[in-house]
Formats: sequence, C-alpha cells, structure tokens
Amino acid sequence: MAIIRDGMAPFDLYQPTSIEDALSLANRLGADAWVLAGGLDSLERFKDRIKRPKAVIDLGNIDELRGVRREGEDLVIGSMTTLTEVSLHPEIRARFALLAEAAGEVASPQIRNQGTIGGNISQDTRCWYYRGGWDCYRAGGGTCYAGESLEGQNREHAIFGAEGCVAVTPSDTAPALVALEARLVIRNAGGRREVAVDDYFVGPGSDITRLNVLKAGDLLTEIRLPATWAGATFYFEKVHDRPVWDFPLVNIATAMHLSGERIDRSRFVLGAVAARPWRLPRVEAAVAGSLRNAVADSASRIAAEGAVPLKNNGYKMALARNLVKRAILGKRES
Ligand SMILES: Cc1cc2nc3c(=O)[nH]c(=O)nc-3n(C[C@H](O)[C@H](O)[C@H](O)COP(=O)(O)OP(=O)(O)OC[C@H]3O[C@@H](n4cnc5c(N)ncnc54)[C@H](O)[C@@H]3O)c2cc1C
Ligand code: SF4
Repeated sequence: MAIIRDGMAPFDLYQPTSIEDALSLANRLGADAWVLAGGLDSLERFKDRIKRPKAVIDLGNIDELRGVRREGEDLVIGSMTTLTEVSLHPEIRARFALLAEAAGEVASPQIRNQGTIGGNISQDTRCWYYRGGWDCYRAGGGTCYAGESLEGQNREHAIFGAEGCVAVTPSDTAPALVALEARLVIRNAGGRREVAVDDYFVGPGSDITRLNVLKAGDLLTEIRLPATWAGATFYFEKVHDRPVWDFPLVNIATAMHLSGERIDRSRFVLGAVAARPWRLPRVEAAVAGSLRNAVADSASRIAAEGAVPLKNNGYKMALARNLVKRAILGKRES
C-alpha cells in the first residue's frame, strides 16, 4: 500500500506551445510521458507517488486546444477548454444544455476553473484500493480488493459490466457526451482519427488497465457535438453524498426528441454504475412512441435489468430506476 508523501517524484517537464510540438514530444517520449491537462487527477497521483512518470507534457500553453467554435452544424470544443467555460458558454447552453449542466455539476467552482473537459472524460477511476497503490487487477496484480475480498468496501462501485474489476467512471460530463452522440478527435504523430464517444470508453472486458482508448503518443484534441440532439429535451441529475466537492454516486444524462408529450427518439445514459458510461437501450426502446406519463413507471422498472449489485451498493439499482423515471417525466421529484 502507498505511503502518502504529498511530494512528487522528479520528472522532466515539457511545455509545448503547439499541437505539432506536443505530438512530436509524445511520439518521442512514448510510454515514459504523461499528458497533463488541468492536473487535478494527475497531480494527486504524482503526489501519492502511485504514478511516477519520467516526463510530463503539459498542454496548458497550447492555445489552439482551448475554446468553442462552430464548424458547419458541429460545435467543436477544444479538449483544454475548462469545465467553467463549457458550463457557461452561450451556444452550449442554447443548443446542448445537457453538457452545460453536467459540467456545472462537477465538484466546485475552483475545480471547474482548473479542470478541462478532455481531462474530465479521461480521468481515472476513484476506486480507493487502486488509487491507494494496491496491486489489484487494474494495477497489474492478481485480485480485486473491492469485488472479490469478503471485507471489500464497494459502496461506490459498479452494478453493470464488471468483469474482474468493479471500478466505475467518476465523470459527470461523460454520460452527457454519450447522450449527445459526441465524436472525439484523437491525434498522434501518425495522423488523426475521429471516434464515436461510445467507442472512446473502455470496459474491463476489453482492457482492465484503462478506462479509455488513449494510448502512449495519443492526444485528445477536440470534442465535436453534431446537430443530431441540438435543442432536444434534456435531463441531467447527479446523486452525491455532499452538495459540492463530490463525485457522483449515480448520475443520469438523457436526450429526448418529443412530439408534444410523445417520445420519438431518446438516449438514456447512466454514470458511475460501470467502468464506462452505461447506455440503457432497453429503456430507449421501451419509451419510443409512448407518452411520457404513460410509460414512466414501466420503463423505469427495467432500468436496472442486468445489474449485479455488490455487498454494499444495491442502493444504486433503486437510484437508477428513480433517475430514469424522473428523466422521462422531466421532474426532479417523482
Ligand atoms: C476534489 C475533487 C473533486 C472532484 N469532483 C468531481 C465530480 O464531482 N465530478 C467529476 O466529473 N469530476 C470530478 N473531479 C475531477 C475533476 O473535475 C477533473 O476534471 C479531472 O480530475 C481531470 O481533469 P484535468 O483537466 O485536471 O485533467 P488531468 O488531471 O490533467 O488529466 C486526467 C487524465 O486525462 C489525461 N488527459 C487529459 N487531457 C488529455 C488530452 N487532451 N489528451 C490525452 N490525455 C489527456 C491525462 O493524461 C490524465 O491521465 C474532481 C476532482 C477533485 C480533485
Ligand atoms: S475495483 Fe478495479 S480498481 Fe478497484 S480494486 Fe478492484 S480491480 Fe482494482
């Protein structure tokens, strides 16, 4: 187990001022380099000495990674745009209020001023065994202390999609981006690729050591919001122990296209219930073509189908059902 020293091991710090320079550094340094955005997740791990990179590439001086712009119908958000900017940006609020609300629910104003949208969706899990330096599966070891040990504490852990590891994504903005069918631009020295947000996040069945597809040499440069869900009916709610400065126990992000009160199409996504944002396709199918009031009870009952609760987190199933019901009705209180 780690001894918390609150002092970082030394590393070489690189502060490029262009994407091209950052890509060339990332290519040259490979797995020795750590990409630094707002540093809120990264510096905690360095200070705990759980992560000891030889080199750090700080993206903070690359202006072209910041800001929000329109490209045709797409809204393009630079990966280094802060959560505060995302939550307050007029066009995000007007067309994609779901994302603005989710970003505005992260932690506290200070953290939103420093944390970036790229870092928020790429942050690592908060599982305390893993973050404390225990040699679990995710850290390359041979057990899962949260899920397999009889004494394991797993109140905040997964109810869906666990294979070996029962850790969850702690991001508030990731479920919103999945609901909005965002596309993410990843660049490396070899070129540029654009991935659907559903393919950005990784569950333990695909790779138990990471929560997203980024590999050494990769930079996440842009988040693109297509017009598909612009101006739809949105719902975001986060359940957490404390009103500020706290990660979600469960959150929900939904987008619905309505004709009057009838739901034509929808995306329902839960967060903090699996290693990746967890879509609910059965709920989406159940509500399609129905009136909100008429379908809320029956659709919410299937929200936790397939869930496998652990010793301490069965309450997440009830939360999932209630959040789905409230999202369908668009009301915080049912
Ligand atoms: C006390 C506290 C409370 C918090 N509460 C919440 C909460 O309630 N909800 C929530 O969603 N979050 C919460 N967070 C997380 C916080 O909001 C940050 O968004 C998050 O820690 C990472 O953002 P960052 O910009 O600081 O990224 P960093 O810490 O710098 O990076 C995070 C990870 O992403 C990688 N990365 C970042 N940007 C890129 C890029 N462009 N290309 C490639 N890799 C990249 C880094 O290498 C690193 O692995 C909390 C954090 C703290 C410290
Ligand atoms: S839940 Fe995952 S990260 Fe946590 S102890 Fe188990 S294997 Fe490690």
